[in-house]
Amino acid sequence: MSRAAVRPPRRSAPAPLRFVAPRLACLRLALACALAAPALASAAAPIEPIRPGERPGAGSTEAELWYGMDQAERDIKTAPALVRDPALNAYVQGVACKVAGEHCADLRVYIVDVPVFNASMAPNGAMLVFTGALLRMQDESELALVLGHEFAHYRQRHGLRGWTKAKSTSAVMASIAIIPSVVALAASLGGLASVSKFSRDMEREADQVGFDRVVGLGYDPQAGAQVWGRMLREEKSSKRSKPWPVFASHPNTAERLEDTAAAAKAHAGAPGEVGRDAYQAAMRPWLDRWLAAELSRRTYDTSIQVIADLREEAQRAGDQGNQGLYGYYLAEAYRRRGKNDDRQRSAQLLSEAVAHADAPPAAWREQAYALRERKDAAAAIDAFRRYLAAAPDAEERPFIEKTIAELETAP
Ligand SMILES: [Zn+2]
Repeated sequence: MSRAAVRPPRRSAPAPLRFVAPRLACLRLALACALAAPALASAAAPIEPIRPGERPGAGSTEAELWYGMDQAERDIKTAPALVRDPALNAYVQGVACKVAGEHCADLRVYIVDVPVFNASMAPNGAMLVFTGALLRMQDESELALVLGHEFAHYRQRHGLRGWTKAKSTSAVMASIAIIPSVVALAASLGGLASVSKFSRDMEREADQVGFDRVVGLGYDPQAGAQVWGRMLREEKSSKRSKPWPVFASHPNTAERLEDTAAAAKAHAGAPGEVGRDAYQAAMRPWLDRWLAAELSRRTYDTSIQVIADLREEAQRAGDQGNQGLYGYYLAEAYRRRGKNDDRQRSAQLLSEAVAHADAPPAAWREQAYALRERKDAAAAIDAFRRYLAAAPDAEERPFIEKTIAELETAP
């Protein structure tokens, strides 16, 4: 009997994308509100960076833009995908606050449970950070850099700049295109990436302002090169060979990597604060869930690249803390892809994963089945027992107990 035929169904993977359709609808509504607001004369005056605590003047173009964003933000507050955990929010908001400095009180950070590398900034101070981005970062300097970039869009009033320009050319689609960030969440996930763009120049400016700010705070100047290097490797692994939606409008990743590496060179000899331990401690409770969500995308070439990268980087940093989790999910990605020698690789990774204390219970279950297939009954029984000890409420407990009994009585 094949293993697939006798195993109870797995618990279904989390479905973090389920919220997309309603979100798209309500954000469109907000957008409609913004577009329906009376069109006011575009100011010819240059757009200055926003001051701490500054709000748009009544009846201004900026007020019109904020109105739409405020509506969208209200919806985000009740979205099922919003991660409400106080500890995780406190940590990410704390880093955002540090980066935003005197603007701290103007920013609200929303963590949304979507397994994609993305973060965005609305002109009214609402920042979105996707769990897929938190999974892919390794330390606090990287988080600070990404948040610094998004904050720079706010401080430099990029949303207003794009909005004003689009209004002056009366291009409605272009108007939609420059309503950034919050709509980008829906737009990018809805496959409408082209409607959510900051200009390339704005992106460059945000990179520069963000970099200066985080390096000024004493963070590691190499953080940008690390983040973009990782992203470039991920892009290359994808058959779609397209950058992630929200980054589609950004300077291409290779160019961006070059720019940040060059900027970091100017700070050579000033290593700065990395904050790996603090970051890892804040993310560790979530990794199991986020790695499962990563695999639920079913883009295994990419997931293998992402997880293998994280696993190797942690090894290089001498951090053994997540090796069981990374190893198990990498093994799962290979097993599910099932090409060429993927099965053997998966088995090897699984054996390595269970040697680490943080291996999730499921790693023992998979290892037990693998050992049973290899006819190593004694080791399989031991692994099944370890699984049941680690997951005492497992739905398949009766089934596994029966399997253990069969293995014990088998000749
Ligand atoms: Zn940007």
